[in-house]
Amino acid sequence: MTAYGLNHKRAQQHTDAALKLMAELGVISQPNNFQTFYAYVAKTNTDLCRTIDILRSNHREFDEAQCEELHVRFFSDQREREIIERISNDLREQLGNILNTVHKVGIDTRKYNKALDHFCSYVGDKDRDLGNLEQALHTLLGATREMEGVNRTLESRLTNSSSEITRLREDMENLKREALTDGLTGIANRKAFDMQLRDAMMNAMEDGKPLSLVLLDIDHFKKFNDTYGHLIGDQVIRLMAESLKRNVKGQDTAARYGGEEFAIILPNTQLGNAVMFGDQLRRYIESHKVVSKSGNTTIGKVTASFGVAEFRPGEPVAKLIERADKALYLAKENGRNLVVGEQQLEGNDVVSETQGLDSPDTQAIPAQ
Ligand code: GH3
Ligand code: MG
Ligand code: MG
Repeated sequence: MTAYGLNHKRAQQHTDAALKLMAELGVISQPNNFQTFYAYVAKTNTDLCRTIDILRSNHREFDEAQCEELHVRFFSDQREREIIERISNDLREQLGNILNTVHKVGIDTRKYNKALDHFCSYVGDKDRDLGNLEQALHTLLGATREMEGVNRTLESRLTNSSSEITRLREDMENLKREALTDGLTGIANRKAFDMQLRDAMMNAMEDGKPLSLVLLDIDHFKKFNDTYGHLIGDQVIRLMAESLKRNVKGQDTAARYGGEEFAIILPNTQLGNAVMFGDQLRRYIESHKVVSKSGNTTIGKVTASFGVAEFRPGEPVAKLIERADKALYLAKENGRNLVVGEQQLEGNDVVSETQGLDSPDTQAIPAQ
């Protein structure tokens, strides 16, 4: 069988599986939903698969709103493309309008100039017939009024186009902001993080200043999700982002790196200070109880584990992230609710100075 044959067969299997699942879950049969469920059965997007798994395990209904939210969340690139296309079509239309108006004004101006020339030659003609003066003035006045009207139309069309272009520019700016913001938490998303980390690395190399990266991951989040459901899980992710917003200031950037993982870029910061900062944040998070949105149920406390690495000038982004990730993994291995700096990686022996206070393996527990 040819490679195409194999791909074709697999695509058909995914199509069948997606349609079958959509029917089972009562999902409305429409192209966006098919795209979502095709990606789910074909396992092309881990985050999407995870989210749908959570929704299914919580027996959530896949109604219109839920499906729309999933599509927007995971296929927003396509939505962005559609918005950009609309904006560029609108812009093209506005420019076309302006060009048409300018063209028409050109024709009208030439007509007016002719009327002026005509009047001037009448005035300059020594043998002119004075009896025609009234008629000549009348014609000139008519042409002037017409030109006045043309100018007014031009002014109002340009004003309309200018406010339409301002609106389109605002749409573009909103789109840009949206494309770099995480929908759930409102902090920088992975795309923004990637861009900012690259910028920060370039700056660090140019200025010869240090740069550190902190990765943090909520401890035992899966259990938390399983116990309270994904909506409360989402709320915890939002609260974690709030804690980051409160503690990450100035030139530092906090971003949602993945599902329940966050990253903090610390320019101008050496490893030791970044570890100290991470530990302050760890303590802050641990000391804040999570209360449900209705405000009457204290759910418990949430903790996070941290991995910290310092940029080595010239190294690729992936290397820096890898070291921070390894340090984070070590923090998990050594009991969680812990900050590990990359200097602790070699011996694999975690120094306890940054360790959590009493309960290193704390998880979010419901208040009884
Ligand atoms: P560890 O302490 O080792 O990090 O354990 P964990 O349970 O936090 O880690 P694991 O990677 O096993 O599970 C992370 C879970 O986070 C899996 C997924 O169900 C959940 N998750 C990921 N993204 C989201 C999200 O956007 N919302 C919700 N509610 N849950 C999410
Ligand atoms: Mg994780
Ligand atoms: Mg986790």
